[in-house]
Amino acid sequence: MAKPSYSTPLGMVDILPDQTPSWRALEQIIHEEAAKFNFQEIRTPILEPTKLIKRGIGQLTDIVTKEIFAFQKGDTNYTLRPELTAPVVRSFVQHHLDQRGGVQKLYYIGPMFRAERPQKGRQRQFHQFGLEVIGSADSVADIETIAFMMRIYQRIGIKNFTLKLNSIGDLESRERYKQVLRDDLEPHRSKLSELSQQRLEKNPMRILDSKEPEDQEYIAKAPKIQDYLNEDSTIHFEKVKHGLQVLDIPFEVDTYLVRGMDYYTRTAFELSSPDLGSQDALAGGGRYDLLVEEIGGKPTPAVGFAAGMERLLIACEELNISLSEKSVLDIYIVSLGEEARNWALSFLPELRSHGLSASMDYTGRSMKAQMKEANREHTRFTIIAGENELNNRAFILRDMNKSVEVNLSAKEIISTVLAHKSRPK
Ligand code: AMP
Repeated sequence: MAKPSYSTPLGMVDILPDQTPSWRALEQIIHEEAAKFNFQEIRTPILEPTKLIKRGIGQLTDIVTKEIFAFQKGDTNYTLRPELTAPVVRSFVQHHLDQRGGVQKLYYIGPMFRAERPQKGRQRQFHQFGLEVIGSADSVADIETIAFMMRIYQRIGIKNFTLKLNSIGDLESRERYKQVLRDDLEPHRSKLSELSQQRLEKNPMRILDSKEPEDQEYIAKAPKIQDYLNEDSTIHFEKVKHGLQVLDIPFEVDTYLVRGMDYYTRTAFELSSPDLGSQDALAGGGRYDLLVEEIGGKPTPAVGFAAGMERLLIACEELNISLSEKSVLDIYIVSLGEEARNWALSFLPELRSHGLSASMDYTGRSMKAQMKEANREHTRFTIIAGENELNNRAFILRDMNKSVEVNLSAKEIISTVLAHKSRPK
């Protein structure tokens, strides 16, 4: 085949008709489970002002320094949203959602954009679903957030994963720990990777999730955050762990799991799957008690997670899990001659108004070609209507599975197909 003149931008893909049923099935599962948890959906624009993204994700993160798609229009610089926590918090503050009372439990589904080097499981436009619980500092919010995330994978049947959990403490604990960490690593500064050297001053905790080989020895020997948590943070962490145990959600404590930004607090977690290869993170999240204030709202504690939908679907593929059943067309009308064609066209709405899916030939092909098309569409029934059938008002209804044909009126066709559909499978 000749190379097409145009194709999707690098790292972006079309979701083609044979893939959309899985996407819709996944979206349906997310909506259904969210309803069971009493979470409400929020939809925000695909673009946000760049200054929000920089503030909400952090100037020094890889996402902001290397990966955002940003452009100038008029006086404003816009960014294609790389994640949704900052936009949801922006929306919460802008619309005073706190005034609706209670805790806001907001979930979302949608595309995100990051200019990363594309590979399997890593795209430049990808999709996430996620949750932001805004207005509760209680460990119940952390536990329910994790429980919702796990529920989606459990319902789909993905069982092989690791949930890593950590507490990075509140602001006070973290400031203390950062200093201890700096003091510990400073004598080895010259031996650390260049990136870690840069992080030593401003954000030494990020060194803990460095993948650079030369850093590993020093990370292994470094003091652990758990020993520097204050009482509040320790109690909170214990409650989260206990809650997960009660819910039978297995987890591993990983002291090296950090979230880089200053407004992340206490709980941090990440879900990964061995079925995914090198890009093995399915989802991640944690508490961000300081972000609402950072974005201009009143101090409001919050917790959330974001999960990659492509990666979830890749895991399904690896595990041979099919999310959607092949949809079956109920009726295809094969019609011969102008009059029969017009009749077919006018009968379609009636069939559809009874909840049946129905289609006909759009190209005026021969009867043989239309029958072929009916087979290709995997239709359950075919109606055959020619001049004779039209004159007698008795059409041929062909059961495609049984290869049986009967002569029926239009009314009888509807009742026969409806009766067939309502029979238990
Ligand atoms: P993050 O917001 O970076 O914590 O990402 C949350 C989840 O989104 C990850 O665990 C991945 O499953 C997914 N994800 C992040 N970046 C990408 C990407 N470039 N392509 C596909 N999925 C991604």
